[in-house]
Amino acid sequence: MEESVTLYKNFQMNIPETDLPRVVVIGAGFAGLKLARQINTHHYQLVLFDKNNYHTFQPLLYQVASAGLEPDSIAYPVRKTLRRKKNMYFRLTEVNKVDREQKKVFTEIGDLRYDYLVIATGATNNFFGIDAMEKNSMPMKSLTEALDLRSKMLENYERAIYTQDLNERIRLMNVVIVGAGPTGVELAGAIAELRNKILPKDFPDLDFRQMSIHLIEAAPRVLVAMSEKSSKRALKYLKKLNVNVHLDTAVKDYKNGVVTTNQEREFLADTVIWAAGVAGDHPEGFHTDELAKGNRIKVNSYCQVPDDEQVYILGDSAYLETEEYPKGLPMLGSVAMQAGAYLAKQFNRKAKGKEIKPFQYVDKGTMATIGRNLAVADFKRYKLGGAFAWITWMFVHLMLLVGFRNRVIVFINWTWNYFRYNNGLRLIVRPFRKKNKSKE
Ligand SMILES: Cc1cc2nc3c(=O)[nH]c(=O)nc-3n(C[C@H](O)[C@H](O)[C@H](O)COP(=O)(O)OP(=O)(O)OC[C@H]3O[C@@H](n4cnc5c(N)ncnc54)[C@H](O)[C@@H]3O)c2cc1C
Repeated sequence: MEESVTLYKNFQMNIPETDLPRVVVIGAGFAGLKLARQINTHHYQLVLFDKNNYHTFQPLLYQVASAGLEPDSIAYPVRKTLRRKKNMYFRLTEVNKVDREQKKVFTEIGDLRYDYLVIATGATNNFFGIDAMEKNSMPMKSLTEALDLRSKMLENYERAIYTQDLNERIRLMNVVIVGAGPTGVELAGAIAELRNKILPKDFPDLDFRQMSIHLIEAAPRVLVAMSEKSSKRALKYLKKLNVNVHLDTAVKDYKNGVVTTNQEREFLADTVIWAAGVAGDHPEGFHTDELAKGNRIKVNSYCQVPDDEQVYILGDSAYLETEEYPKGLPMLGSVAMQAGAYLAKQFNRKAKGKEIKPFQYVDKGTMATIGRNLAVADFKRYKLGGAFAWITWMFVHLMLLVGFRNRVIVFINWTWNYFRYNNGLRLIVRPFRKKNKSKE
């Protein structure tokens, strides 16, 4: 069916009113983008909102932060990926609020009515009420945060060179990572490889034996969501790379450059990275009783808000309990992508008058990489480790990246790094700040 403009234009957003049912999707992450790519826009008008004009492949953010990959090799412009789609309108804006009575979304550039609404806004950091961490630690959930982390670490080594005070030099060089889930473990491994192999060549005037990487975890093991076997292997690999892992240790505060914990030990570090928790992120418009633990919106097995069947929630912002996952499906890229593909298929079936089926998540396995030839993978009853798991991890991540160019660039970078340990990405990219600017 071709889109025919029948009524009037919403001039503010320049989106035509047509006979086609309008599907408004908020978020071009794993779930939203998958849905947008697979929904048949001959039958629906698709309006996609995102506050960024690109899709971020979050699983590789840690490689941007540790100067292993360029930021643009793990991001992809939304418009480019959807440019061949008819009846598709992308608008760069943040959606602040949803009014489900009026069936409208409210954004920074105006409001828009919907026939169907899909919220796929992902997650945000959860600091568990530790104010000092929220103010002073560095999260790593976006491309800009990953780049900023890279710049901060490199800037600190530049400062450490001319610092006379040994304690201050150690504080500038040390890194504390809070949370030993996949993000914390992968980041710790990547920074350790940077310290062990690359930084001593770039900074011959610094002694990198003085730099410690501390990975702090409140649970009794690393990678708590994976099998015990993979967890033990990952700990062994981290120790091999000389990462100090502190288990059963909860961070309490971070003041004057010192991280304090519930154990005796304190940690001196200027770079403290928060990788300990996430919570669902979504626009306003939901009652507290519609939310589950971790600020995620409860959905039924069709990914719908139970009392509002025209509103769907996908990915990290959704909370779906199943028999196999009584605490809700995990906040993973694979869950988000499968949910996006599922919903596109159901919309396409609905357009043809076919019956709608419930969502069923298929666990294809979980993986984490700690360093060169060091990874762990759980595939049902098979627990892989070492070089084989590492090659599998690389292959899967290459295939999941959006865009052929990105895959080629990442592959070339990985191959180059494997043989040379040196890719020249260690740039400090931050606005220049004059030291005495405030006095002027
Ligand atoms: C550092 C890191 C490493 C990870 N590693 C892995 C891994 O190895 N394997 C794995 O399976 N998962 C991993 N994950 C988790 C995985 O990335 C998420 O589960 C997945 O991205 C969730 O997809 P989503 O579509 O729900 O949300 P996202 O992919 O987060 O997308 C949300 C989108 O919504 C947009 N948005 C948010 N709010 C608004 C708003 N109000 N208005 C407009 N736009 C908005 C955002 O800009 C974003 O584009 C990792 C996550 C992080 C942060």
